[in-house]
Amino acid sequence: MTSASQSLIARSQRVFINTYGRFPVAMVKGSGCRLTDADGRNYLDFVSGIAVCSLGHCHPRVTEAICAQAAQLVHVSNLYHTEPQTVLAELLVAHSFADRVFFCNSGAEANEAAIKLARKHGGADRYEIISLAGSFHGRTLATVAATGQAKFHQGFEPLPAGFAHAPFGDLEALRAMITPATCAILCEPLQGEGGVRPLDKEYLAGIRALCDEHRLLLIFDEVQVGLGRTGSLFAYEQMGVTPDIMTLAKALGNGLPIGAMLTTDGIAASFVPGDHASTFGGNPIGCAAARVVMETMLADGFLAEVRAKGDYLAKGLAGLAAKYPTLAKGARGMGLIQGLVLNDEGIKHGGAMVMKLFERGLLLNFAGNVALRCIPPLVVSREEIDEMLALLDQVFAETV
Ligand SMILES: *Cc1c(COP(=O)(O)O)cnc(C)c1O
Repeated sequence: MTSASQSLIARSQRVFINTYGRFPVAMVKGSGCRLTDADGRNYLDFVSGIAVCSLGHCHPRVTEAICAQAAQLVHVSNLYHTEPQTVLAELLVAHSFADRVFFCNSGAEANEAAIKLARKHGGADRYEIISLAGSFHGRTLATVAATGQAKFHQGFEPLPAGFAHAPFGDLEALRAMITPATCAILCEPLQGEGGVRPLDKEYLAGIRALCDEHRLLLIFDEVQVGLGRTGSLFAYEQMGVTPDIMTLAKALGNGLPIGAMLTTDGIAASFVPGDHASTFGGNPIGCAAARVVMETMLADGFLAEVRAKGDYLAKGLAGLAAKYPTLAKGARGMGLIQGLVLNDEGIKHGGAMVMKLFERGLLLNFAGNVALRCIPPLVVSREEIDEMLALLDQVFAETV
């Protein structure tokens, strides 16, 4: 007998362009940190739809805001003003370095907006953007070109010109790559897809100094680490470095597609009407959901709890690394983005271990072919963290 999941998967395989290597399951329902599949099996979710559902699945206040807005006004385009958009922009401006916001629908689009703004601001003959090896910035052609991983480039050449990649962690190499054509340096304060790899503070301070010295814009891609994930509203707040432009997306709408590009008055002035646009950007429903996300994260104690639970998770992962030194090297991350870094032997089994965890009802992913990445909803409980660690322990014990 075929299960409900299997029959949906068979239908999907006939109609989709084959771009995703999906787990063999159809999800039907979510609540908090749990998902239920079409056959009624439950999963503990340490992926959160890739760091998106930070308030957990179907957070009641988000659902309520979505439903209320859907009954009021769904879409009018940016030919007109709408209150949900303005309220959200005010919240982002009030709680960040930025003075102004541009809304779009995804992380790649937020980075596209940042790239265009940096080029426009740079002026004639200043168009080149330097990003870092191991980075991930999206799947559009420009953001693929900015992404510092060859596997995302292959088959899509020629890529748009004006992008260069500096070796990770090497400030002198980065300095040597700056030319009169350079207009910006783009980086993630902590590389997510690249394997949960934080940039250290001195390195980031050095990058900031290079930007100041050469009149370059510093763009932080906080698409994955922004909005509470690291234990502060934005990761840059803990890094001692303020960017000139910041991009956001994943967690902003707790599952609704919305992205944002934030910057200062002075830089924003380089864009004039007609320079950039998005039909759906700042859609009222996405903005209504994002307002609840912002207000919830800014409420007393929320971010402190993320930091405390992040420490708890990091200690648990470090304990597992100590227990299984043949598989894992240690934990790294900030707040509730933590990676258990595998060694060469562990990496061989990384994909298989993720599949075994899936079979036991734990969703986790293997980032950058180097780290088991834990990005649970920020509302995860210590009991759920313990449950995750126990499952990981079982699978490690079977693998060694
Ligand atoms: C996911 C991600 C993106 C791309 O976001 P999409 O919404 O998939 O376009 C860009 N940058 C970083 C750091 C990301 O993690």
